[in-house]
Amino acid sequence: MVIRFQECTACSHRIYPVRAHCTRCGAHDLAIRESRGLGVVHSATVVRTHPEREFRAETPYVVALVDLDDGVRILCRVRGVEPGAQVIGARVQESSPADENSPFIFSPVHH
Ligand SMILES: [Zn+2]
Repeated sequence: MVIRFQECTACSHRIYPVRAHCTRCGAHDLAIRESRGLGVVHSATVVRTHPEREFRAETPYVVALVDLDDGVRILCRVRGVEPGAQVIGARVQESSPADENSPFIFSPVHH
């Protein structure tokens, strides 16, 4: 799934999630950009239980804030890592299924 963010045409500030105006200069002329889906884990936590059955079946899983190379920070899930393992600072790439309703899913970049 392509991650889209906004870029202010007045001051080039990048914005996520979508807003009606620039969060830095207040301009309303915002262009839509598409992320390349690469970034670095800023922080992470492990979800061990969930009130909704669909998500509970997948626990425990890792939820992280990822700083995309594009300059915005997003909330996503990280697959392919052990829950509780150190992932902060890890290089990750987006690997979500093409389902608009699912959360963004990232996995580590293997060199
Ligand atoms: Zn601006």
